[in-house]
Amino acid sequence: MTKVSVLIAGAGPSGAVAAYRLAQMGIDVILLESQPQCPEDMRASTFHPPTLDMMQELGLLETLEAQALRAPVYQYRNRVTGEVLSLDMGEIADVARHPYRLQCEQFKLTRLIAEKLADHPHGSILFQRRLTHYEQDDQGVSVWVETPTGVERYRCDYLIGADGANSLVRKLMGVEFSGFTYPEKFLTLSTTYPVHEAFNDLAYVAYMADPKEWCVLIRVSEFWRVLVPALETEDDKVLVGDAKKTAVFEGLVGDSEVTTSHRTVYRVHQRVANSYRQGRVILMGDSAHLNNPLGGFGMNSGVHDAWNLSEKLQAILQDRADPDTELDRYERQRRTVMQEFVQAQTMRNKRSLEAGAEAAQGEAQAQLAAVIADPDKRRDYILNQSMIKSREREASIA
Ligand SMILES: Cc1cc2nc3c(=O)[nH]c(=O)nc-3n(C[C@H](O)[C@H](O)[C@H](O)COP(=O)(O)OP(=O)(O)OC[C@H]3O[C@@H](n4cnc5c(N)ncnc54)[C@H](O)[C@@H]3O)c2cc1C
Repeated sequence: MTKVSVLIAGAGPSGAVAAYRLAQMGIDVILLESQPQCPEDMRASTFHPPTLDMMQELGLLETLEAQALRAPVYQYRNRVTGEVLSLDMGEIADVARHPYRLQCEQFKLTRLIAEKLADHPHGSILFQRRLTHYEQDDQGVSVWVETPTGVERYRCDYLIGADGANSLVRKLMGVEFSGFTYPEKFLTLSTTYPVHEAFNDLAYVAYMADPKEWCVLIRVSEFWRVLVPALETEDDKVLVGDAKKTAVFEGLVGDSEVTTSHRTVYRVHQRVANSYRQGRVILMGDSAHLNNPLGGFGMNSGVHDAWNLSEKLQAILQDRADPDTELDRYERQRRTVMQEFVQAQTMRNKRSLEAGAEAAQGEAQAQLAAVIADPDKRRDYILNQSMIKSREREASIA
């Protein structure tokens, strides 16, 4: 049986950041990942300013920046009226050390951390290790892990479930995942086609209202990524087929010959676990909460959970702080921010795009235009969307 202070199930962005930060703090940690390597999927690609501060503190920012694009400006565009509302994060440079979004796929972060953990004195990452069961008592947690050749046993002081949306840890805890699943699905397509040439002054992040089909355009270093909604009743095989791809790009850039590198269909949820912890077993990231991707808050929230939780575990394991006090505070701070800010804001962001689609001069777009025209409201809006306010709110919760 292998003994360790902290065992983490899942090497997505949340688990990876928690593992690396704990290891840097001198706490022995093992990160288990069920896949043979950190999955290269087309999900998160936006790092917000507070997350960039964290990357800098971990010494990872320079390497990530070298593989990424800075996006200080994001846009809300109406394809019918041609109206373009731009927000420049340079306006919050007085409070943000990194006043831009970094456009960088999440697997670049997880793979970088996996490399760092490979020869770290306090941390390690083990692939093809799937947590299947745990049992906890007053002294610690016993964990069963499936490998390609058998079953391994671990014993840890604390177990973190960072095992994503279908978290087995959450299910074993018996915790309800309250919320709802949207009826529509989201289709994402990535292409090396120069999408920006079809638009005037297109920012690297653009939310496009359209009466036929709203969409989001996101630039990462190698691709443009296009996100469009799809009906629940549409077959996933049809959605990732050539006919759909051609229809999307004909409508967007007027070219039916666009080739794609990835096509993926996602279900979208708004859910928060009723509890983030049971004794020595703690949830974070997508295992604890899910939201729609409009705003780019999912991965960032998971990293912020990891940041908060690693500090609480450091206080418990190195400074003998009271575990219940610390871990209850983690749950209070992170769950409150998730409910008050991330859930509310992502639902508002989706409604705003849809409202813009219903009427060219939709009420939501008019409201946004009014916010952008007012310097104080605009600043407030940018501070909210860049997650600076949610970090302030988190710190204000005792
Ligand atoms: C289309 C789309 C676009 C998005 N864009 C953004 C964005 O721009 N910005 C943003 O912040 N967020 C975005 N998100 C959300 C973001 O991708 C997720 O919030 C993020 O991946 C959550 O990280 P995580 O580490 O909590 O979970 P995951 O990334 O899901 O990682 C969980 C890991 O656990 C492993 N695992 C599962 N079960 C076990 C087990 N039993 N034992 C061991 N390992 C296990 C999995 O293999 C996986 O590697 C987007 C999501 C989608 C669908």
